[in-house]
Amino acid sequence: MTKTIIITAGGIGKRMQSHLPKQFIELNGSPILMHTILKFNHYDADIDIVVVLPLAHINGWKTLIKKHNFDIKHQIIDGGKERFDSVKKGLSMAKGDLIGIHDAVRPLVSTKVIAECFEALKTHQAVVPVVSVKESIRWVNSEGSKSLNRNEYKIVQTPQCFTKNVIIEAYKQPFNVTYTDDASVVEKLGVPIHLVNGNEENIKITTPLDLEVAKLMLNA
Ligand code: C5P
Repeated sequence: MTKTIIITAGGIGKRMQSHLPKQFIELNGSPILMHTILKFNHYDADIDIVVVLPLAHINGWKTLIKKHNFDIKHQIIDGGKERFDSVKKGLSMAKGDLIGIHDAVRPLVSTKVIAECFEALKTHQAVVPVVSVKESIRWVNSEGSKSLNRNEYKIVQTPQCFTKNVIIEAYKQPFNVTYTDDASVVEKLGVPIHLVNGNEENIKITTPLDLEVAKLMLNA
């Protein structure tokens, strides 16, 4: 079965306090997005790669490709208003029978996790990597708060992987604000989501602290 990975960076992040889009910030001399693409290329040199970027960042990305002599082949498409729109656009370019969707700012995903997600599609239609909650967690509303049983919750990572029919069908549904990831869109169709173990290092680089942590982990 052929595979596609859609790498999403369609939104404009605001929490990094940097003028540079966070996927272009350098880690050990090369942009985060290059590290992320290389992870999937190492997993499978033939994987079809689709990168979704805001229109305003596409020229910048092309400049970086030249500057770094980056030669991993990939398609580029501009993102949409919501994450949902960006993924839908990415899907329109996807050639594979199995489709993974991954956040550009998760360069520390392990090859093992990528392999396990795609492998599980032999027996499931939707696969998501998760890790356990280490902190205590509380439910809050305007009146107060209440402790929750953390064993009943998981933290969701990417790549989230699906058979092509399922993900294409899911993204024909109208947009809903509760869709924060692809599993939530697919779940709406009634398709069960199979969970596999993610890797703790696979953080979503969102804040300056995350960036420092990612640098430490890359050098470890
Ligand atoms: O909003 P959030 O940080 O949860 O976004 C998750 C992923 O969706 C990120 O990879 C982000 O770049 C992507 N995204 C997108 N298009 C948007 C908004 C977010 O591809 N319009």
